[in-house]
Amino acid sequence: MTTSTPNLVVTPSAHPLSDAERAARMVNPAFGRIFTDHMVVIPYRDGKWQQGELKAYGPLTLDPSASSLHYGQAIFEGYKAFAQPDGSIKTFRPEQNAERFNRSAARLAMPAIPVELFLEAGDALISQDRNWVPKNTGESLYMRPLMIATDPYLGVRPSEEYLFVLFASPAGAYFPKGVKPVTVWISEDFVRAAPGGTGEAKCAGNYAASLMAQSQAQEKGCDQVVWLDAVHREFIEEMGGMNLFFVYKDGEKVTVVTPELTGTLLPGITRRSLLEMAKDLGYATEERKLSVQQWRDDIASGRMTEVFACGTAAVITPVGVAKANGFEMTINNNENGAVTLALREALLGLQHGTAADTHGWMHKV
Ligand code: PMP
Repeated sequence: MTTSTPNLVVTPSAHPLSDAERAARMVNPAFGRIFTDHMVVIPYRDGKWQQGELKAYGPLTLDPSASSLHYGQAIFEGYKAFAQPDGSIKTFRPEQNAERFNRSAARLAMPAIPVELFLEAGDALISQDRNWVPKNTGESLYMRPLMIATDPYLGVRPSEEYLFVLFASPAGAYFPKGVKPVTVWISEDFVRAAPGGTGEAKCAGNYAASLMAQSQAQEKGCDQVVWLDAVHREFIEEMGGMNLFFVYKDGEKVTVVTPELTGTLLPGITRRSLLEMAKDLGYATEERKLSVQQWRDDIASGRMTEVFACGTAAVITPVGVAKANGFEMTINNNENGAVTLALREALLGLQHGTAADTHGWMHKV
């Protein structure tokens, strides 16, 4: 049980699940449906973060006029905690999530939260609910921090009051039957983000705006949508909730290419980490523009050998087929590629503590 921390008063739940009930809910939990016993809430008013609370997970009370419900001042993050072989628990680069959270906040005219307070909230919640951190390889505790505007006011202006909330959800192996390539739909009808917009912020509205394109992708028999740039409708940006990587092979030389950060795609923490891990594995890396035509040409010529997507939730997912209006291409025979799997193994090993943390990325709770 956690005792109160510098900025959080701990009030343990009066009705935590029994060990047996918790164990039953942790068997292959569907992503994002099961929540732990506790959550953290920290209100912001009078220009500063107030005393926070770690308490039983449960509904929030919001005024119907709360401005986030109308004008969308709402941001969130996602990171994971992993059980380590020595029984400790570590999170993967949570300070990076804190920093991205604050960049998202700035773009939506919301207040920043001190990085130390963001980390204190995560560590306190994980310590309190440590029995909820799954122990099997591929499993983790998914942490969901968010901030919403709570002013009961209908004027369109930045809210003066906010609520930071953090809760956690046990996440089973994303591919319980093993990694399998996905089929993607390259969207020419919808765009996710335009220059000057909110594409690099992790704000709620970006996801609302993506849902129709995602439904269209599913109607076309695809798992995920791939977004193109809004201006030329030509350059590849990212996939659903993941960044994309393209693998080139020239004899022994492997180069992994990912679209450069243009301000309209989300700067993924997995993306950033893989750019460094690729170098550790002896691969060259490039961040640059890549057009759909180039993608097609390089698959046709055989220079491009693999494509994969990466993000916190699914780690690394191979892309086996890409479709758009008027064409379809198969990548690597719709099979898992060696470079994709090598990077996936390296990242999972680091996160689960079976490989050395040479970059100092793991944060001990
Ligand atoms: N793009 C989008 C749109 C996302 O929502 C995410 C998930 N946060 C990513 C990319 C991958 O980012 P990360 O590696 O930080 O999870």
